[in-house]
Amino acid sequence: MRHRATLLLGGNKGNMPATFLRTLELLAERVGEVVASSQIYRSEAWGFDCEEEFSNQAVEVITPLEPEALLDATQSIEQELGRNRTQELEQKSLSGVRYCSRTIDIDIMFYDDEVISTPRLTVPHQLMHLREFALEPLLELEPQRVHPQLGLSIKELYENLKR
Ligand code: AMP
Repeated sequence: MRHRATLLLGGNKGNMPATFLRTLELLAERVGEVVASSQIYRSEAWGFDCEEEFSNQAVEVITPLEPEALLDATQSIEQELGRNRTQELEQKSLSGVRYCSRTIDIDIMFYDDEVISTPRLTVPHQLMHLREFALEPLLELEPQRVHPQLGLSIKELYENLKR
């Protein structure tokens, strides 16, 4: 069975274009065919004080993997490319803030038109419709795609946010 998943890559540490390129290579090896990718968008860090701008890129993949297997694959890529969850948790408990600098974050925005709610996975991604840095790259790839829970297209969600 082939599934269409939309991922959002993000990060603000190191050479982000190079990290995203390597991420696309690893996605192609381990997840499936990368059928579309947006340009890289830059924005101010969201949710915590941080000097380095964030970069985001939306990617569409066709994959045989079921949702949790897809998450396993994206998390192993995050780990391999240098994201250190232990360090992040330490920073979080020190500062009390949920967000911190990261080399690469891969979030699953959509998985077909499925609505998924398990302890590990919420799809569509929980806060996507409230975050310009997520909607903007998605808008480039699939403006007419309808959010299966909200019943609004990416374009409508983006316009609502900008209002
Ligand atoms: P974060 O630190 O923001 O990357 O959050 C990571 C955690 O979010 C992981 O432990 C995942 O199990 C969980 N998670 C829930 N829904 C999603 C999703 N749609 N995409 C990626 N991670 C998710």
